[in-house]
Amino acid sequence: MVDCVFCKIRDGQIPATVVYRDDHCLGFEDIRPQAPTHVLLVPLKHIETVNDLTVADTDLVGHLYLAAAKVARARGHKESGYRLVVNTKRDAGQTIFHLHLHLLAGRSLAWPPG
Ligand code: AMP
Ligand code: ZN
Repeated sequence: MVDCVFCKIRDGQIPATVVYRDDHCLGFEDIRPQAPTHVLLVPLKHIETVNDLTVADTDLVGHLYLAAAKVARARGHKESGYRLVVNTKRDAGQTIFHLHLHLLAGRSLAWPPG
C-alpha cells in the first residue's frame, strides 16, 4: 500500500524500534508513547480497519493477540495487567489506516477511556 506509514516500517523504509517480529506481524514502539509500555502490533498484511477484516483473517487476528500477550509477558506486565486497544475510524481517533493493536502498560490506566 503506497503511503502507508506502517507498511513503510514493515518494509524498512521508515525507521522504528522493532520489539517483536514473526511471519505474520510486527511489533514496534509507538513514536508518541502514552504509557511506559506502548507497543503497536501490526499485521504484515495491509488491512485498513477492523471493518475490512474478512473471515480469511480470523487466524491473523488471533495471532495478533497472541503476539501482544507475548510482548506483554516479556515486559513483565502479565500479572500487573495491560490494555489492548484498536481504534476504528473517526470517532475512535484512528490516524493510521493500517490495522494495529495498541499495547499499553506500566501504569494504572483510567476507565472509561477518553
Ligand atoms: P491510531 O490513532 O490508533 O491510528 O494510532 C496510530 C499510532 O501510531 C499513534 O499512537 C501514533 O503515535 C503512532 N505512530 C504514528 N507514526 C508512527 C511512526 N512512524 N512510528 C511509530 N509510531 C507511529
Ligand atoms: Zn499498511
